[in-house]
Amino acid sequence: MAKILRCIDECKSMRFFFAFTDDLVKDFNKLQKPSVATTVEMGKVLTMNALLYSDLNTKDDSIDIKLKTNGKCGLIISKLYNESFITGYLENKDITEYDKIYKNNETSKDFIGDSGILVITKDLGLKNPYIGKTNITSKNLSEDFSNYFSSSNQTNTSVFLDVKILKDSFLSFGYMIELLPDYTKKDISQFKIYSDMFKEELENYIKGDFKENSFYDYISSILKIFKIKVTEEKIIHYKCSCSDEKIDNMLLNLGKKELDDIIKEGKEIEISCNFCSKKYKRSIEEIKNILKKLKK
Ligand SMILES: [Zn+2]
Repeated sequence: MAKILRCIDECKSMRFFFAFTDDLVKDFNKLQKPSVATTVEMGKVLTMNALLYSDLNTKDDSIDIKLKTNGKCGLIISKLYNESFITGYLENKDITEYDKIYKNNETSKDFIGDSGILVITKDLGLKNPYIGKTNITSKNLSEDFSNYFSSSNQTNTSVFLDVKILKDSFLSFGYMIELLPDYTKKDISQFKIYSDMFKEELENYIKGDFKENSFYDYISSILKIFKIKVTEEKIIHYKCSCSDEKIDNMLLNLGKKELDDIIKEGKEIEISCNFCSKKYKRSIEEIKNILKKLKK
């Protein structure tokens, strides 16, 4: 499970979200067996999506992040749903030629790309979902998300996302800091200090000898020192949202002609979920029943 904190500073001039997402990365890795480059970049996108958890109000709400870049990674999607479940998909997850770069905790422009489009869809139970778009201009996803949220929140927003490859584990961490309305000049400089500080603390933790403390404990103690108050703590699990019902709906959406063709072929079909590789089989009899629904 991953932990997400929502916090506010003493002067109530900015709010903070922190995400400790080692387990999301671990579970994605176990399920999809991706390349190192995929693990790192997908981990960052999952962490970003987890940071948005507090926007969800009911169990039917969901938030999707989609990135389409000029990089070799292809399409990247993350889905946050049912308040505390999250899942991810990276199209070309098996490309290993950039793993060496990522093992050194660096990022490859060729893999992740440096231009393209970022789309965030928030379905919060209103008539229409809210869809926000921005151009990707950097190979650094933290910068792209900072740009997105600074313009969509209409206030200074700083996003930092990182997945560190350790000896036999991952350290995945992210935060988003937003300046609240009516801020002063002093608040702006404090905002900049915090934006850099937590990034540096991640490096200090990795380099230092803090093994008796988890990184979560380490950051929690820093929050106390700076009188940054935790107002909410939430837990998120990596889990796919696929189901028999969703697979049948997908088949239904293929339409009459496609389904007729499958029946003519006379062979059972197998559909594999993109997010978790789970396999779903449908017999000809089952396809015929789906077709009946379509005719109703
Ligand atoms: Zn699935």
